[in-house]
Amino acid sequence: MSALRENNQKKNEDPTIIIGAGLAGLSCAFELVDHGKPVLILEAAPYVGGRTGNWDERGMEVESGFHKFIGYYKELPKLLERAGIDLDQMLAWETTMQVRHPDAEEYGEFGLDVIHAPLKTLSGVLGNNDFITPGDKASLVPFLAAGFKDCVSRPEELDEISLLDYAKQHGVNEQALERIVEPLSSGIFFMPLEQYSAYAFFGLFLPGIPRIHKMRIGAFTGGMTDVMCAPLAAAIEQKGGQIRTNAPVTRLLVGVNGLEGVELKDGERFKANRIVVAANIRRSQQLLEEHFSEHEWFQPFLTLDAMPHVTVQFESALPLLPEDRTIFGPGTDVGSFGEQSRTTFRGRPGRASIIMVNPDELIDLPDEEVWHRARRGLAAIGLHEGVSSVTEYRIVRGNENFYRIAPGNERKRPEQVTPIRGLYLAGDYTKQPMFTTMEGAVLSGQKAAAGILEEATE
Ligand SMILES: Cc1cc2nc3c(=O)[nH]c(=O)nc-3n(C[C@H](O)[C@H](O)[C@H](O)COP(=O)(O)OP(=O)(O)OC[C@H]3O[C@@H](n4cnc5c(N)ncnc54)[C@H](O)[C@@H]3O)c2cc1C
Repeated sequence: MSALRENNQKKNEDPTIIIGAGLAGLSCAFELVDHGKPVLILEAAPYVGGRTGNWDERGMEVESGFHKFIGYYKELPKLLERAGIDLDQMLAWETTMQVRHPDAEEYGEFGLDVIHAPLKTLSGVLGNNDFITPGDKASLVPFLAAGFKDCVSRPEELDEISLLDYAKQHGVNEQALERIVEPLSSGIFFMPLEQYSAYAFFGLFLPGIPRIHKMRIGAFTGGMTDVMCAPLAAAIEQKGGQIRTNAPVTRLLVGVNGLEGVELKDGERFKANRIVVAANIRRSQQLLEEHFSEHEWFQPFLTLDAMPHVTVQFESALPLLPEDRTIFGPGTDVGSFGEQSRTTFRGRPGRASIIMVNPDELIDLPDEEVWHRARRGLAAIGLHEGVSSVTEYRIVRGNENFYRIAPGNERKRPEQVTPIRGLYLAGDYTKQPMFTTMEGAVLSGQKAAAGILEEATE
């Protein structure tokens, strides 16, 4: 330990080191500094935000993929408000979304907001009969009733079965499956129904039921680093927290007496006996494997698989839609499409993003091939006109960020408080009820902070 450089600002207490400045790391840091505890965040990237970040990719402003802020989130809005961020400025609320299927003559138009757009919401459920017949809708009822019940009463068993098998067991017909269940699952977390845990499907919507009056979706009014994560980081710094970007941690330093600190890629070391690993799943596993691969507690987590994501983002001379909104494209490679030229990426005539489905198939394909499939998907759902005016596109992909929401994986998600004294985990993959979402990341950071604060009182 004496060999470690005393890099930390020595106060009465060494700071807790938080590895990663995604929402999980930032949320953990905010709770700690709010309780007067010193923190040092070490972030590998040149910017804060992780998956909720925006950056310049070879001359074009991009993000990990377009994000929607769900109105029933609780902890994320509270955190942002506490940090002085005005949600009404940060978000533009959408009251409807569309589902377009290549074989359907009509588009499905669904209201999302019981309070602010009650008629659109009600007519979406009762209407759209040319898109989805009353018989199709009826076939969903037993499936939804059983799913939400099983989600509460036997979640482990529900997690053992795929969404496709569960839907078939409960008599969902093909059309309802493709036009309703697919957009609400693969359209959000891009995995095909046969690889999607039924528990992850129902579990994501369950917290929304008692908060249905809060249901609506918000688009960001700027890049997510700019409008959310950088202001949150500034609030942390204002309360005394330190944040270093371009600081990739390559090793945890663990001695016979426990945690000693961390080492960066350039060899710089920081002393700490309290560390929160808030990196994405794969990097977190790599950091922990070196010391804890034989430890029983860590083993399920170390076998938790990651899933890739692939997004297509483009600028065009014309917007593809007359207003910014979300469209799902079941039956095509386009999981979801978002026109963003009046919200997240203003100042461009046209700016849109696609989250592609079946990322396992696409992750290693060349950019040109992914772009070809995206164009084919857009054409299939009637969005081909503006595509000829595309001026720039980028394929933004990642292989190590999400835990795979496949059957059987729920029990491998680790708690935030580990059995190693001083070692905590945070990240959307850790155990919390909101799955792999911004809300989930914030919850995980709060749980890690609660563990640290509790340890401090022992
Ligand atoms: C395409 C896409 C669409 C999404 N859509 C939505 C949506 O609509 N709604 C929603 O709620 N959520 C959405 N999400 C999910 C949401 O972005 C994540 O759940 C959330 O941002 C995860 O935060 P995190 O802090 O757990 O992880 P991350 O954001 O991944 O943060 C981890 C951080 O750790 C850093 N790091 C990694 N390794 C190291 C290291 N060795 N040293 C230092 N730092 C390190 C990384 O650079 C990163 O900044 C989407 C994600 C993607 C990719």
